[in-house]
Amino acid sequence: MSVETQKETLGFQTEVKQLLHLMIHSLYSNKEIFLRELISNASDATDKLRFEALAKPELLEGGAELKIRVSFDKEARTVTLEDNGIGMNREEAVTHLGTIAKSGTADFMKHLSGDQKKDSHLIGQFGVGFYSAFIVADRVDVFSRRAGLPASEGVHWESHGEGEFSVASIDKPERGTRVVLHLKAAEDEFADGWRLRNIIKKYSDHIALPIELPKEPLSSLESGEDAPAAVEWETVNRASALWTRPRTEIKDEEYQEFYKHIGHDFENPLSWSHNKVEGKLEYSSLLYVPGRAPFDLYQREAPRGLKLYVQRVFVMDQAESFLPLYLRFIKGVVDSNDLSLNVSREILQKDPIIDSMKSALTKRVLDMLEKLAKNEPEQYKGFWKNFGQVLKEGPAEDFANKEKIAGLLRFASTRTEDGEQSVGLAEYIARMAEGQDKVYYLTGESYAQVKNSPHLEVFRKKGIEVLLLTDRIDEWLMSYLTEFDGKHFVDVARGDLDLGKLDSEEDKKAQEEVAKAKEGLVERLKNALGEQVAEVRVSHRLTDSPAILAIGEQDLGLQMRQILEASGQKVPDSKPIFEFNPGHPLIEKLDAEADEERFADLSHILFDQAALAAGDNLKDPAAYVQRLNKLLVELSA
Ligand code: ADP
Repeated sequence: MSVETQKETLGFQTEVKQLLHLMIHSLYSNKEIFLRELISNASDATDKLRFEALAKPELLEGGAELKIRVSFDKEARTVTLEDNGIGMNREEAVTHLGTIAKSGTADFMKHLSGDQKKDSHLIGQFGVGFYSAFIVADRVDVFSRRAGLPASEGVHWESHGEGEFSVASIDKPERGTRVVLHLKAAEDEFADGWRLRNIIKKYSDHIALPIELPKEPLSSLESGEDAPAAVEWETVNRASALWTRPRTEIKDEEYQEFYKHIGHDFENPLSWSHNKVEGKLEYSSLLYVPGRAPFDLYQREAPRGLKLYVQRVFVMDQAESFLPLYLRFIKGVVDSNDLSLNVSREILQKDPIIDSMKSALTKRVLDMLEKLAKNEPEQYKGFWKNFGQVLKEGPAEDFANKEKIAGLLRFASTRTEDGEQSVGLAEYIARMAEGQDKVYYLTGESYAQVKNSPHLEVFRKKGIEVLLLTDRIDEWLMSYLTEFDGKHFVDVARGDLDLGKLDSEEDKKAQEEVAKAKEGLVERLKNALGEQVAEVRVSHRLTDSPAILAIGEQDLGLQMRQILEASGQKVPDSKPIFEFNPGHPLIEKLDAEADEERFADLSHILFDQAALAAGDNLKDPAAYVQRLNKLLVELSA
């Protein structure tokens, strides 16, 4: 072994310690994945080298054939992975193998419950990468040298996977990285050619560069040393980029493993779409819908976008220009024949080729989701749970595909159980009542709050389904969605509810008569409520409640108002419309009340109650309580 100098010992970042501990204790049922993770890293490292070498060919140091070699030593109980990729310098070894760079890691770690079963799912979602070596090894040596640096600037990183690691400078003539796993006592099964070959075939067949195993076991190979030149190697994987192969020849398992590699996910994707486009533009794309949301889906700086290749050469990770923000959960690869190899993010943003690719890829994703919704409704439910909130950003962001996106949305309604978001607009329209030509909805803060809203009374009576929208984003979403399939959306809490043909001629006539008969009461209420209301009128939407507050046609809804208020913004002043139910005993009592002071008190109580029922806060809660108590005292007197 070469001489080590400048050795220092460092502590792992706290999150790494937690991750290591958890991994060792919770991923024991699927230990073999360590090989997939390390091969995935080696493959990324060769991708990076190939790309950097475009501008600096000298980085290849004369050795252009990129590959990964996996060897083992039964007696020494080691497994060694070697790549001739980009390698790491000392500083990179310290940061990349001593910390976790992902944004939101600390947050993520807080979510761990200590319950290993639950946490093992979370950890899969996080992706463990390099540290998975410690599932099978109790000591890991990494020897690396970055391409382009002199042999003397190699680094030896070593750790037992507990609290710390050491780094030292070494001589390393070949560029790239060698990872030596010293297997734990019970894990010698991995120092076996058959076992390794099978694991590679199973998980890494899709890796685009050769993965080689020695034909004969290398019992003489000392860990950390280069293999003797006489060893004969054979390639065990297919070694061609998966997306370049014809669809018909690719097995589902291969698509799934490829997804895990590029998506840094442990679980299978829900669905994928693989396409080759020829003609004016030439590119291949392979797009995946993940099985679940990454922990950082809502983090602004979280990675998103596709891996970009140009003529099979890796160019960049997270090329976000190929899909809109509301599809940021999609993972995949796009390989273009038209772009230049030295394309940059800035160029991507301006290139008209990218625009047309973006709209084609967007359409592909939406088609894929449509298919999933149609053919696998159960799976789609899972998708909706994970990504529905993000998809709801779509109509505002992507005007051209508004209708298509709207078709993919799922809502709770007065017909779903427990607020489950499962009703699509097409389904709603297909079962509309006779004479109904609008899509009715109600927004609110929670399902519990809207499901009993007085606004729904008339709809319940007439057997009309109403969509119940209670996600924070919903009111904003509905300001962009005005119709679907030619049917307009109507907020049932807004304006002067016109039920169109749902009210018969007699109904309408009766309503007019009541309105006329109650003109006096309307006037008295206007006087009593004064500045608080924009208008007072007789309601046709109530059966059980005495009164309700409707929002003016152009006014901000409650949800938006509350969001603005919470963010400290000025909310435009708007007054509600007070509607009363003329048949309600309380209203009849009110109408008959001769004492103007009691009339006013009762009116205010009804107004405040209607605000409460709508989920709003009272402007003057103390006044409400005083009035109510006054009434209670009179009652019990
Ligand atoms: P991830 O691959 O998700 O970034 P890992 O923990 O697997 O996380 O690896 C951390 C980093 O270490 C990688 O991003 C890379 O920069 C570096 N690294 C790991 N393995 C290699 C390798 N074989 N060659 C070069 N760099 C590597």
